Amino acid sequence: MANPVEVWKAEKHGLDVWPNVVNYAAAGTPMKQIDTPDLERMKWHGFFYRKRDAEGRYMNRIRVTASQMTAAQARQIAFIAYEMGHGIVDVTTRANVQVQGLKIEHLPKAAERLAQVGLNSKQTGHDNIRNVFAHPFSGLLADELIDTCQLCHDVTDLFVDSREYSDLPRKMNICLNGTSHHSAHFWTQDISFLAHRTDDGRVGFQVLLGGTQGQNPHLAWHLPVLVHPTQVVDVTRAILDLFRAKGSREKRNAARFRFLMEEIGVGGVLQWLEENLPYRLEPLVGEPIPASSHDELIGWFPQRDPDLWIMGLSVPLGRLTWRQLEGLSILSKKWGDGQLRTTHEQGLAVINIPTAFKNAAATDAAALGLSIHADPLERNTVACTGSQFCNIAVVETKGRMLQLMQKLRQRNVKLHDVRIHMSGCPSSCAQHFTADIGLKGVRVRRLLGTREGFDVFLGGGIAGQVHMALPYRTGVDTDQLPALIEEVMAEYYLRHQAGQTFSTYWREKLQAEEAGKVGDDDYQLPVWVCETCDYRHEAEDPPVFCPQCAGLRRYFARLEDGVVEDEESAREQEAATPAEIDGFAFAASDAALTEDEGLTVSVAGRDLALFRHEGSVHAIDAECPHEGAMLAEGEFKDGVVTCPWHGWTFNACSGCSIEPAGNDVRHYATRVVDGKIYVAVENAVHNTGGAGRPRAASPATGGTKRARAVDVSLPLLEVIHETPDVRTFRLDNREGKFPLDLPGRFANVYVEVDGVGVWRPFTISSSPTTPEHVDLTIKLNPEGSVSRHLFEQARVGMSLRVKGPQGGFCFDPARHREPLVLVAAGSGITPMMSIARYLHAGGSQQPRIMVYGARTESDIIFHEECRKMQQDAAAFRYVAAVSRPNNGWQGPQGRLTSQLLRDAVQDLHEGRYFLCGPGDFMDTLARELTELGVPAERIQTEQFQSPVVAKA
Ligand code: SF4
Repeated sequence: MANPVEVWKAEKHGLDVWPNVVNYAAAGTPMKQIDTPDLERMKWHGFFYRKRDAEGRYMNRIRVTASQMTAAQARQIAFIAYEMGHGIVDVTTRANVQVQGLKIEHLPKAAERLAQVGLNSKQTGHDNIRNVFAHPFSGLLADELIDTCQLCHDVTDLFVDSREYSDLPRKMNICLNGTSHHSAHFWTQDISFLAHRTDDGRVGFQVLLGGTQGQNPHLAWHLPVLVHPTQVVDVTRAILDLFRAKGSREKRNAARFRFLMEEIGVGGVLQWLEENLPYRLEPLVGEPIPASSHDELIGWFPQRDPDLWIMGLSVPLGRLTWRQLEGLSILSKKWGDGQLRTTHEQGLAVINIPTAFKNAAATDAAALGLSIHADPLERNTVACTGSQFCNIAVVETKGRMLQLMQKLRQRNVKLHDVRIHMSGCPSSCAQHFTADIGLKGVRVRRLLGTREGFDVFLGGGIAGQVHMALPYRTGVDTDQLPALIEEVMAEYYLRHQAGQTFSTYWREKLQAEEAGKVGDDDYQLPVWVCETCDYRHEAEDPPVFCPQCAGLRRYFARLEDGVVEDEESAREQEAATPAEIDGFAFAASDAALTEDEGLTVSVAGRDLALFRHEGSVHAIDAECPHEGAMLAEGEFKDGVVTCPWHGWTFNACSGCSIEPAGNDVRHYATRVVDGKIYVAVENAVHNTGGAGRPRAASPATGGTKRARAVDVSLPLLEVIHETPDVRTFRLDNREGKFPLDLPGRFANVYVEVDGVGVWRPFTISSSPTTPEHVDLTIKLNPEGSVSRHLFEQARVGMSLRVKGPQGGFCFDPARHREPLVLVAAGSGITPMMSIARYLHAGGSQQPRIMVYGARTESDIIFHEECRKMQQDAAAFRYVAAVSRPNNGWQGPQGRLTSQLLRDAVQDLHEGRYFLCGPGDFMDTLARELTELGVPAERIQTEQFQSPVVAKA
């Protein structure tokens, strides 16, 4: 049975999406209104949707065949980046060039501009043959065996625009190397043609097949033949035909060419070639000479012509600005002949520079911030795109690698030629498996939450032969990487034998350690948990998509060793824990609270801070009454807690404020029974004054750990007019300053009105799945100074000071597994929208209904988006009622009541309720729901603090 990707590929060929793209561009169609198969098909034209980027942006991956680029092409790419994108250009490990940040309306124009200079980006993604690259200095070096540039173009001509060869079971990587030294890179391609001189002086190609990085990495198999240069295109075609004919299309994770190689073996390929080529290939048993070093591509390199030079430039982590690329274009014409090369080490080179111009060219490059004198750290580090732009990334990479380099310099760690490659996920675009030190981004789940880190691999690349690296440590925190790298370098320098490379030393050591362990039978595969739907996946790496809820890879976290049992027993304990004992509700396990620091817990819908002092447990309100900082995160000493934001101090044993006085927080009685902490919250009432509703606890141990609130300024990116009196203020969070954890939380916004600083809370309406922006959807209150101020004064580009995220009213996928009923009135839809968007983005199958009440049709906020979500997701239903309908209104009429809920919700008792709206609305509805038998602990209501006048 074909997988779903093959189904939509069969429905419409990827190349056929172009007329749609042109229409989408003309209409400015938002990304969220384009169906996913069409977004995927755009990769056949080199345009990649970027959900992480500001909404509606695309990346353009441009094919740079044979790594050859002209000055005019470089300039055109620079201008596309400047005029249409974010102004940055990335060189990749396939010597492609990527431009980030294009809007839908730019795509036809970008394709046209590329065509003007003889470039295209066709078939650079999905199940296509990617950029065919040569050695970057092909055709230039005196000792090269054969110039492979034209062969790269001939192979590319075979498949670009071919409907046949752009419908493969999976992607395919092809390269040709005409030099006599072949770097590790060539052992992980699907097809590598490696130049070889026979004993009788002829030059042909040895062939490696089926190599892969990424999940299930594998070094290539050697095909024992010599392919003559005139046969390269035929052999490529025959192998593509083989892949098309026999490659599996059933499972995406077992469809790469390497799996076919495993199935049919080298013998099967030879037989196919014999049957499908008009001639027999010359047998050649000898394998390619193993790589002895990485390609050295930075510095000055003499060309075959004794007066000409290659200037190999370091491009740290492959990223340059449009100005740098345009500058290089000018430089190449000024000092060379207008030709450049991209390199598979994420670099660039300017070629054909006469000896007399070397200094001038290097000086001009330096003026652009590019150098031929990179230190070992700069020349030996590679990082993929990472979570800044990549949809499936698990962690950020380029920024983290730069920080790592800085820390290693501060520690004076000498790397010499040791290479560090950092990939943001198992796909291994940075080739971490063939680096001396490979870093793979992962998320790791502990009982109290999830954190990001890196699995560390050592001994990859060149260790006598080309090798895949072996695991050394898993889940290392980013800030521990410098110490770890210092440690492994120091051990190598102290202990290695003469002639042992770093990779050889570690490979032998780790292999010996492996051999000393118990047999393979005892090996337990890691367990990955989808944090959206709790699906569990046992494998070395998380899947790209969750098979249950279609959530992206980044929602998977690996359970730390031993946590499976711990968590299972925790769940059992949780099930066995009484929710309430004599009016005291369960708050946390006693073991979770130490003497040194506080713990924030959610009990009966109320956030509390727990402290242990002199053996006793104390509970007070979680938030400082000044500006809402979480008190449990403050310094705790001698029974006194200091607010982490402004230093207000409180007696944690009584809730009394110490400095300044007169700001007491509530204190709650506690009990510790059987290793569990219980808190008396039976009188807890809603802030808006509703009747008290006792609710059972939300055990902190089962929930997702909340992000620590921050106080930051974010630029205002856009103001979106939602209805006549509601606007969304979109704040730019591309630098990730504001942590987004769970949907439904709020942020405090600071404004100065008539010289007085005021903080006012507003719910975040965007989803944590789009962390690059923070949306605050605000209704104008004509009497309210803050909303009026924002409506009148806020301008795009200005910065807004915000604190957060805050609040206990939020959807937590780890705790809220019931069908969701999201009930909102008026602007109360904002947290519901965040929850709905969150679940929609992750493809969640959790049933959910949004029941929304507004005054008139024109007052309905997010109407179209909710309807679209309902169309796209069977698990989501949307019901909007208006109390003052006009003649054309066809939906429910009247105020939002429990009767309307009864009509809309199939089984009232099954659901978890989130209510947000005016206080009287929430209290009435909550009371009616409890009277109808809905357990009170499954009704959550939004609550905001009163505005606070800021202190100077
Ligand atoms: Fe994205 Fe993963 Fe490739 Fe990095 S390795 S660019 S995170 S797919």
